[in-house]
Amino acid sequence: MIDAARGARDVVQAGAPALRDVARAVDVDEIDSTEIQELIAEMLRVCRARGVGLAAPQLGARRRVVVLEDTTEGMSDETSEALAMKRREAFRAKVIVNPTLTPIGDASAAFFEGCLSVAGYRAVVRRHLRVRCRGYGGDGKPVDFEAVGWEARILQHEVDHLDGVLYTDRMESRTLRRVDLLDEPLPGDHPEFGEAVVLGESTAPVRRGPGASAAEDVEARVKARKNRKK
Ligand code: ZN
Repeated sequence: MIDAARGARDVVQAGAPALRDVARAVDVDEIDSTEIQELIAEMLRVCRARGVGLAAPQLGARRRVVVLEDTTEGMSDETSEALAMKRREAFRAKVIVNPTLTPIGDASAAFFEGCLSVAGYRAVVRRHLRVRCRGYGGDGKPVDFEAVGWEARILQHEVDHLDGVLYTDRMESRTLRRVDLLDEPLPGDHPEFGEAVVLGESTAPVRRGPGASAAEDVEARVKARKNRKK
């Protein structure tokens, strides 16, 4: 996920097939391979330079690896009020291999987000406010943690990339705008498209794909999809 508009030349852009395929899991004993370690190092470099999160398919690698990091410096262009509303707090770099997310509770949050692979645009996306993340670290050790607010949003955005999903698939489409128009007012109610989008937390449901089951469990969905392919 993007933090600030700093260009996006070496990150593959929407339209690239790598962004639409379901990425392949990494065997645990493959994590310390040169291929995966070099991939992780490059992902961390790109993420630190340009955003707050990155998924391997964005570098053209169809593997289930994400990285994320948010720094005080990176959020310095946001007011303390905005940071509090988004529950955005600095956290150290995380590498997660084969991440699975499980929403916690019914709360969701609607805020603008962007993507290094959809350069120059932003739209409001409703995401789960809290998620539990399980997977493996870059050192091959299991990780299991809960995330809230902006970190939870970044996780959901990046894990979506591993399933070939872009934020534009989940966005409130009428809020899409060029990044230089980010602060313009949100569109109002519309006779066809319904009520105006309101930023912030609520219990409104998160937008899901037409093929998604009732279970709000990303892991179950990925497994179901894999089984269908067999
Ligand atoms: Zn993205």
